[in-house]
Amino acid sequence: MGFVVGIDGPAGSGKGTVTKRVANKIGLINIDTGITYRCIALEVLNQNISLSETEKIIEIAKRIKITIDNTPKTDIVFLNGKDVTKDIRSKEVTKIVSQVSSIKEVRFIMVDVQRKLAEGKDVIMEGRDICTYVFPNADVKIYLDASIEERAKRRYKENQEKNIDMTYEEVYENIKKRDENDKTKEVGALKIAKDSIIIDTTSLSIDEVVEKIINIIKQKIEIKGDQL
Ligand code: C5P
Repeated sequence: MGFVVGIDGPAGSGKGTVTKRVANKIGLINIDTGITYRCIALEVLNQNISLSETEKIIEIAKRIKITIDNTPKTDIVFLNGKDVTKDIRSKEVTKIVSQVSSIKEVRFIMVDVQRKLAEGKDVIMEGRDICTYVFPNADVKIYLDASIEERAKRRYKENQEKNIDMTYEEVYENIKKRDENDKTKEVGALKIAKDSIIIDTTSLSIDEVVEKIINIIKQKIEIKGDQL
């Protein structure tokens, strides 16, 4: 196993932006695990499958081919060969993704995919259960948090920049529902690993969070005598 930095936290805590910047600055490969669940949610919508048809959703997870082209700015995502970078961020996908990712069997399959994506590489991986379940022995474990109002504000702004049409109230309600759902999952619930370092980003700038994380990683590398 290469060097693994795990970053967990709720929606809007800054994981995506921060992880990408840290990766670019210190030469790690960033893996956004939410992409894998978003791809399944998109396929569920495309195939008109209802959320109660668990078996069909598990079949999708078994067959799906996800490729992530990791560029310094965005991750270009291909689902069964088609570019779905924008589609996986749609309002419709965002509404159902948490329920799709609550299906135990779907998680087992996706966790396998995520571990394979990291195989033999030095990675910074973000999600909900990276430090508790996907890589419980990660070299560095971080939990990012922020108030729900701040998270909704950030996501609303980000959506506007990406032309995703959601009101602030819709974003707020969606985040609240996802929080509840993500924290109460049977497998892979959003939890703070006991050895995670918690960073509350509510009143921090992106640069400040990036700097904090890089310092934590550097300290760990010095202690371990590793080299990146
Ligand atoms: O991080 P992002 O908002 O793209 O994740 C979308 C959804 O995927 C989350 O709300 C969560 O339900 C699920 N997810 C998960 N475990 C992860 C990453 C994401 O359950 N490691």
